[in-house]
Amino acid sequence: VKGYLARIEEKKHLNVWNEVYTEEALQKAKEVDAKIAKGNAGRLAGMVVGLKDVIAYKDHGLQASSNMLDGYVSPFSATATDRLLAEDAIIIGRQSCDEFAMGSSNENSAFGVVKNNIDETRVPGGSSGASAVAVSDDHCLVSLGSDTGGSVRQPAAFTGTVGLKPTYSRISRWGLIAYASSFDTIGVIANNVPDASLVLEIIAGQDENDATVSQKEVPAYSKTVEEKPKEKLKIAYFKETVESEHLNKEISKKTFDKIEALRAEGHEVEGIEFPLLDYLLPTYYILTTAEASTNLERFDGVRYGHRTKENVDLEGLYKKSRSEGFGTEVKRRIMLGTFVLSASYYDAYFSKAQKVRRMIKESTEKILSEYDFILMPTTSTPSFEIGKYGENNLLELYLGDLYTVHASLAGLPAISIPNGEDKDGLTIGLQIMANRFEEEKMLSFSQYVS
Ligand code: GLN
Repeated sequence: VKGYLARIEEKKHLNVWNEVYTEEALQKAKEVDAKIAKGNAGRLAGMVVGLKDVIAYKDHGLQASSNMLDGYVSPFSATATDRLLAEDAIIIGRQSCDEFAMGSSNENSAFGVVKNNIDETRVPGGSSGASAVAVSDDHCLVSLGSDTGGSVRQPAAFTGTVGLKPTYSRISRWGLIAYASSFDTIGVIANNVPDASLVLEIIAGQDENDATVSQKEVPAYSKTVEEKPKEKLKIAYFKETVESEHLNKEISKKTFDKIEALRAEGHEVEGIEFPLLDYLLPTYYILTTAEASTNLERFDGVRYGHRTKENVDLEGLYKKSRSEGFGTEVKRRIMLGTFVLSASYYDAYFSKAQKVRRMIKESTEKILSEYDFILMPTTSTPSFEIGKYGENNLLELYLGDLYTVHASLAGLPAISIPNGEDKDGLTIGLQIMANRFEEEKMLSFSQYVS
């Protein structure tokens, strides 16, 4: 803990931490030491963990990197947080993120821009950018982030770490601040696949506080993660994406190098078509903004966090508090979401997008009934410069989520693992997607190709 605290201090300028729990972490470390001496320590004894500022920890600040939740202290812990603590993990602080987890660069935080440790002029990705830097730059061993459309996987690719998004409903969402509830998952960022597997094993599984969580038994991921494939695998990739001219050349080459290496091992790797590709991003952004606009209704200036100081009537209180509390990107999404849900446009946008989502899910599951995995790059470019995207070219930033939103729309598990660097030393991610609840198989395969 002392080592990590010193590192956090040394790298303060990266702006990773919204709050560090110095005294508490040191105290907990002493208690864990005593337990180890007695031989009754938990399975995560000494694992130092950081939480993205959307995951609740009882009696600690929680604000989704938003002024809207300024001063808010959570009265309860997320189920995932409780399960980590029960196994003697040490929580060292809460990490910055894009406000309410909306973004791909960690530039939309009320606490300011977060820098990538690999190149400080570049973004760490988002929205769990700080959580990825924290692991990549040794501020903690593991981070819990959230992934709605890539927020754990894309920052992992930008920082050379492992980013795991499980099947929707594998991990309880109790205590996770909602962005788009039918997409949101807690995810794990770690230095390697075995660490991510162990943490998933501890935090996954049924929970009476979350009615959507799966009742399925949680396999012992940490035991099987080192197993090599017992038979030859059948793997698919999408020709349109991996061969696309829009994909960065070095990323394309690294992806094909992996494909060739797998073929050399005797596995069958086939390029296939996915005709719904063009619909992924529009469907994702229609549905997530719709869900976000309703989820964020609760921040009214009365129940949580920020309340305007101006002397206004009740409606004015809601309006003023929200106008002052939310940042630009959050407001944009609330407006987009309200629009697609409005009576005149509901059928044209929202309900059509729901139907398309169903088609995406079914056709992806069909592919995964014939193939073991779908392989693709995590991102179309390596990390980009801070400030590259603004009001004028925002759509391009959204387009960058092409590869990651697929698994989120389909509710499937996916993982980003490091796949080398480009000529400037920027890290590249390889994404592996598997069928529902096939985390066990996905994790051991990821370890095998790592
Ligand atoms: N970049 C995507 C978005 O802004 C993903 C965010 C996320 O997964 N939380 O919606």
